[in-house]
Formats: sequence, structure tokens, C-alpha cells
Amino acid sequence: MKPPTERQCQALFDSYNRRFFGGRLPAYRVLLSGRFGTGMHGMCRRKEREIRLGTELRGAELRKRLIHEMAHAAANIGHGKLWKDEMHRLRRLGATREDPDAYGDPAQMVSRSKSRRASSTARARKRICPGVPRVHRSDTSIG
Ligand SMILES: [Zn+2]
Repeated sequence: MKPPTERQCQALFDSYNRRFFGGRLPAYRVLLSGRFGTGMHGMCRRKEREIRLGTELRGAELRKRLIHEMAHAAANIGHGKLWKDEMHRLRRLGATREDPDAYGDPAQMVSRSKSRRASSTARARKRICPGVPRVHRSDTSIG
């Protein structure tokens, strides 16, 4: 299967926004990114209005991941109640078959993402020269 283009992903976002969110999601840029760690295939950056999808995704997997990230855009980051409620709503609409309850306890997810965030911040610091404003990462969801 041919890899999708960002243009196709963007078009998919727009059509899902109309079909499943009543066009209420703000405009996001959908980008493809190959720079995810193992097991991660998507990212929603609410502040930057950006969704990133793994370049390895194809077909149904890509659509499933896009809906997952759009649910973060509609709810909040993390896999807590707000996001799960949104995912259940999307399931009822037939937008996805992903089971949000397969995601663990929100408290656990928070502490896991905190430690992940801490290490990626440390990595980012090495790359960013002093004087560049610190990026607020609290609006970013990975996975
Ligand atoms: Zn997620």
C-alpha cells in the first residue's frame, strides 16, 4: 500500500471533522512524522493545532489513529474520562472501532507521560540553544 500524503491526511481530517464532529474542531495541520519512539504512532499538539501521524501508518490503521488524535483535539490530552467519552461517542457513530477502555487508568497514564516528558525535555534541551523560549508541552499528547 502506498504511503499516504499529508494532503490526503489533511483532507481526511476535514471530512472527519464535518462527519463526526459537526465541523466544530478548530483547523489543525495534519503532518506525517517518522520520529516517534517505539509503539507511538500519533501525537496531538493542541496548542500548536497540529496532529502528527506516523509515516508507517496505512489505510485503516491510519484512519483509526487520526480519529484517536482528533478525540484528543475535541476532549483533552491524556486518556481520561473526557477523552474516553468522546471515543465512545465516535464508536457509536461508527467512526472507529478502537476500544478506549483498553487504555489504562488515567492517573497511571499521567505519571508515565510525565516521565516520558521529562526525558524528552532533557533531550530537547540539548538541541535547543539557550535563549529559545521554553516550549510548553502540557498541551501535547503523545499516543
Ligand atoms: Zn492518545
